[in-house]
Amino acid sequence: MEMKIGGTVIALALGDITREETDAIVNAANSGLRGGGGVDGAIHRAGGPSIMEECRVIGSCPTGQAVVTGGGNLTARYVIHTVGPVYRGGSRGEADLLKSAYLESLKRVTDKRLKSVSFPAISAGVYGYPLEEAAQIALTTIIDYVKDHQEIELVRFVLFSQNIYDVFLNELKKMI
Ligand code: ADP
Repeated sequence: MEMKIGGTVIALALGDITREETDAIVNAANSGLRGGGGVDGAIHRAGGPSIMEECRVIGSCPTGQAVVTGGGNLTARYVIHTVGPVYRGGSRGEADLLKSAYLESLKRVTDKRLKSVSFPAISAGVYGYPLEEAAQIALTTIIDYVKDHQEIELVRFVLFSQNIYDVFLNELKKMI
C-alpha cells in the first residue's frame, strides 16, 4: 500500500527490513547498543560486524534518541539505531518516547541528507507496545514530519507479519 504526502511516498510493506534498498534502515535497538533479538539481531547478522564495532565506539543511546552507523554488508548505506520505550502500562511517558524515537530517526535522515528510509514497528515486539497505538504514533509522526521535509522521497514501513501489516494499514486508512 502506498500514499503520497506532497512529494513524499509513504509505503507499507510486508517483509524483512534487512533486505531494503532505501538509503537507510532504522533499527529498534536497546540503549546499550549491544544487539539482541528481533529486528536488532537480524540487522547485525545481515550487516556484519562493522555495525557493532561502530556501535561500541558510540557507546549508548538513551530511549527516544537515535544514532547513525554505516550499513556494513547491507544494501542500505546507513543504519539509524533508535531506542523505543518498553511499554509499562502507558503512564510512564511511553507515547512521547515512541514519538521521539521516530522523530529523532527522521532528524538523522535529514542530517545525512538522505532521500529514503525504512522503519520497523519500533517497540512493537519484545518491548510490548500495543500495536494499534504504536502504529498510530508511528504514522502520525512520520506524516507530520514529511509535510515539512518534502526532500525525503520515500518512507517505508517494513512490517514483519501479516497481522502487524494489517494493523498499520487499518490505522493509515483512518488517517486519509
Ligand atoms: P522492540 O524491542 O523495539 O519491541 P523487536 O525487534 O522485538 O523490537 O520488534 C520490533 C518489530 O520488529 C516487531 O514488530 C518484530 O516483529 C519486527 N521484526 C523482527 N525482525 C524483523 C525484520 N527482520 N524486519 C522487519 N521487522 C522485524
